[in-house]
Amino acid sequence: MNSTEIKQADKDLIWHPFTPLINPFGHLSIKSGKDAKLFTHDGDTIIDAVSSWWVNIHGHANKHIAEAIYKQALELEHVIFAGFTHEPAVRLAKNLMTILPKNYSKVFFSDNGSTSIEVALKMAFQYWYNQDKKHKTKIIALDGAYHGDTFGSMSVSERSGFTRPFFPFLFDIETLDFPTEQNFDQVLSRFDKLTADENCAAFIFEPLVQGAGGMRMYTPEMLQQLVSLAQSRGVICIADEVMTGWGRTGTNFACDQIEANPDITCISKGITGGALPLGITACSSKIEAVFQSEEISKALLHGHSYTGNPMICAAANASFELFEADECKANIQRINQRHQQFVEKLNSYENIENIRLRGTIVAFDLKGFGETGYDSDARKKIYPYFLERGILIRPLGNVIYLLPPYVITDEELDQVYDSILTFLDNLIN
Ligand code: PMP
Repeated sequence: MNSTEIKQADKDLIWHPFTPLINPFGHLSIKSGKDAKLFTHDGDTIIDAVSSWWVNIHGHANKHIAEAIYKQALELEHVIFAGFTHEPAVRLAKNLMTILPKNYSKVFFSDNGSTSIEVALKMAFQYWYNQDKKHKTKIIALDGAYHGDTFGSMSVSERSGFTRPFFPFLFDIETLDFPTEQNFDQVLSRFDKLTADENCAAFIFEPLVQGAGGMRMYTPEMLQQLVSLAQSRGVICIADEVMTGWGRTGTNFACDQIEANPDITCISKGITGGALPLGITACSSKIEAVFQSEEISKALLHGHSYTGNPMICAAANASFELFEADECKANIQRINQRHQQFVEKLNSYENIENIRLRGTIVAFDLKGFGETGYDSDARKKIYPYFLERGILIRPLGNVIYLLPPYVITDEELDQVYDSILTFLDNLIN
């Protein structure tokens, strides 16, 4: 099919995520990718400055991962994961345990970030249920949270335009204001009350950086205080590391920057380097212990057809090898340093505010462009502006952020930075 045929058939048949069915922009047809670059069917090159929804940590079409998938496909492509196991899954579990907190003892496989959250919520609720504490059903989440698009994950996310048609079907939660330097004392005192409540089951949070909420950042000190207070009350702490995992915030996981260990950690996105979908819900031995029983009623009765798929595990293991290599760690540091220099330049611009940087994520807000949100006017203008200049940036409303693959070169980063600065130079205040 040529580019025109693909675009027409796409328009006729395909329902794309987060996109109105009548969409004047259409969808660009991508033929191939390599490292930080995407190549369209029309011959254009695009620098992927957001790792394609934050997944492609090692860039596109990575040979090491591709070969691992191919090799595994010839050996064993899939097998039911109840009653059976296989080496790629066991290897992945062992790999994960080397970077998870020392008190972690089990990993549960699912398919994506949202399902890793569903599993975490079920684990937390059933943790109390198995101990005959059925009244413990209340979840605390942060204002502005985004944990996914399934019903449980929507329930613990901010009520917003994303979920409005489904409000009647979402369960109630307690929402805690997003912590800032200004409000932290009040936030902590409210959290103190919420966690003291008899019904409080769990606290779920995106550690250090809220992704879809606008790359909002808060400090390790604040997170440490919240987690340690919750844990002192026995409240289960669920870290949603779906976006922040795999070095994104400078450490393997964002929670590595605090002393306390969450009880449950949700992992996805970067885990396979963007090659295949996978979600992991990992838990501490304290959580596991409550499920240690031969009774089926005490088991976590959850699973998906593709749970523990061997090819996906092989992709994750190959991605893990790349992640553990010195080159990857050096790239994460290099990007952080380059971002720091970029921030110095951004500081002189008066048409932006809240410049923030953590690890490989840099973000700022455009002044006078309205609110953060997928349907904001800012996004409609900024997204095509950069695409026309060969750069994939997907603003979150008035928030422009970069979250590049770790293999992005200095030259590519310069191209991205320069085009943002040119955009800001030409922006009428
Ligand atoms: N949690 C966080 C923090 C996320 O950023 C996302 C996706 N953007 C999810 C959960 C849901 O992941 P998925 O899209 O793979 O279902």
